[in-house]
Amino acid sequence: MNDPVEVIGGGLAGCECAWQLAERGVPVRLWEMRPKRTTPAHKTGDLAELVCSNSLRSDDPEHAAGLLKREMEAFGSLIIRSARHAAVPAGSALAVDRDRFARSVTKSLEIHPLIRLERREKTRLPVGDAVIATGPLTSPEMSRALTELLGGEHLYFYDSIAPIVDAEDLDLAKLFRASRYDKGDGDDYLNAPLDRDQYLAFHRAVLDAEVTPLHDFEQTLFFEGCLPIEELARRGVDTLRFGPMKPVGLRTPDGQRPYAVVQLRQEDLARSRYNLVGFQSRMKWGEQKRVLRMIPGLEQARFARLGQVHRNTFINSPVHLNRFYRLKARPRIRLAGQITGVEGYLESAATGLLVGLYLGLERSGVSAPALPITTALGALARHLTESSSKRFQPANINFGLFPELEGGRKLNRGERKEALVERARRALVAWRDELAHGEERLSLDGLERDPTEPSDLIEVVQCAG
Ligand SMILES: Cc1cc2nc3c(=O)[nH]c(=O)nc-3n(C[C@H](O)[C@H](O)[C@H](O)COP(=O)(O)OP(=O)(O)OC[C@H]3O[C@@H](n4cnc5c(N)ncnc54)[C@H](O)[C@@H]3O)c2cc1C
Repeated sequence: MNDPVEVIGGGLAGCECAWQLAERGVPVRLWEMRPKRTTPAHKTGDLAELVCSNSLRSDDPEHAAGLLKREMEAFGSLIIRSARHAAVPAGSALAVDRDRFARSVTKSLEIHPLIRLERREKTRLPVGDAVIATGPLTSPEMSRALTELLGGEHLYFYDSIAPIVDAEDLDLAKLFRASRYDKGDGDDYLNAPLDRDQYLAFHRAVLDAEVTPLHDFEQTLFFEGCLPIEELARRGVDTLRFGPMKPVGLRTPDGQRPYAVVQLRQEDLARSRYNLVGFQSRMKWGEQKRVLRMIPGLEQARFARLGQVHRNTFINSPVHLNRFYRLKARPRIRLAGQITGVEGYLESAATGLLVGLYLGLERSGVSAPALPITTALGALARHLTESSSKRFQPANINFGLFPELEGGRKLNRGERKEALVERARRALVAWRDELAHGEERLSLDGLERDPTEPSDLIEVVQCAG
């Protein structure tokens, strides 16, 4: 069977996915509604347009985002290749000239003999093999089609992100472990108690902090159940104390009920990160750091992510997706990109790559196991499929998504990163080797290397470049 795969959405994910498929000999119909019909954030008709920042995050090989890039390059990623061609100086980040980048991706796809570009909106879910990669600003018709299939309660239209802090920098002497009313395991949360003066100072600081202006299309996005903290603070001095900072059901270890509390919920299985529950915010990032460090125990906090509120269409992936990004309800439909609940250009492209890879292998008769969860690509899929469906939130790639290292020795931050990267490299090579047995046609160019050469993943990938 070599029917074309319908890839809907020519953004970061759709473009990478179409490329991976076509490079594996699979014909593709790539649907992009722009420029005829645009989104509130896109400005051009180019494929893979970057709507905001021009950065694809860190290129440091020992940063999770750097590792993800190298894994993608190992599979011949179009997005990373085009980004390197269009790179502009940005320290350790990979930032691009956005027009050059988008034009380069567009050109590569337009001239590919196996890709047919349809400049039209797709309003229905296809019947055959298809990939939905319509992004955070999916057109209303397509959102409706997904809602009909998945149920409205599993499709979100906004994203309110609470800040995340690294556990290492918390002052545990000022925090206490407890769950509200001792529910759950009793120690699921770290709690930062505030006395009256601390609370009032915090409330004042939130009120005075500068916030980022809203885009027009975001004006309607304030849902009562999900208000940013500065919006709550504006409604009255006690609103936060009756909202996300409510102390009910919590007692400090000496039996006192605090005046107000900030709850920190474990973000990963390794307890290396915590999110500040209900602390979605539109405060400017510098302001947010300053204000949040007023919370007792967070004075030295380092932020893995800051709070945000913006429009974002994504599904409850732990309920609906399997490791191969197939919809459980309609397995011939795969989802890729931000609509799966990953966050960011890089991560969206990475999921597009995986969908294209798996479907391309399947079309050539190869039954591939899912990539190991110890790789960056596998860790992203793990986040989408194994997170709690009740608390599912989009995520960037970070080492907190990886399974913890085995072995008793305590590693410092640098050693831990090095060990995680090395483990990912080994896992990727083992996956390739397992696949390659008895499968001559399979070519993962980026991973091929002379086994006699001492090399790590980074060198392997650069050789392939
Ligand atoms: C306002 C805003 C700011 C952002 N800023 C950043 C940032 O600074 N850094 C970052 O990493 N990420 C940012 N993001 C997230 C970013 O958009 C995504 O990470 C990334 O673009 C997602 O890739 P994608 O392929 O899933 O979606 P997109 O890149 O958005 O691609 C989806 C494509 O599908 C098309 N489409 C939609 N519906 C249909 C349809 N029915 N038929 C045909 N085509 C359709 C759209 O026109 C679009 O081209 C931002 C998002 C928004 C909304």
